[in-house]
Amino acid sequence: MEQVFHWCNKCDQEIKFNRNKDFEIRNEALEFKGEIIFVEVKKPICPKCKEEIFDEKLANETMKKAVKLWEKQTGRKFK
Ligand SMILES: [Zn+2]
Repeated sequence: MEQVFHWCNKCDQEIKFNRNKDFEIRNEALEFKGEIIFVEVKKPICPKCKEEIFDEKLANETMKKAVKLWEKQTGRKFK
């Protein structure tokens, strides 16, 4: 169990967020340097109201995944 506290704007209070289950899997189109890639991302959601919230760790995971896919798709180095 990986639990942290996050602020939820909709609930207007701090909520307990569990990184292992409080998320939705969504497919998102992201654009980097003119290339569009489709990434399956974990969107953090508030366990109380199901509103999307921000979680740094999940955001970083998404970014890493996106960069890998981008490099695979373009055959270039991202940086
Ligand atoms: Zn909430």
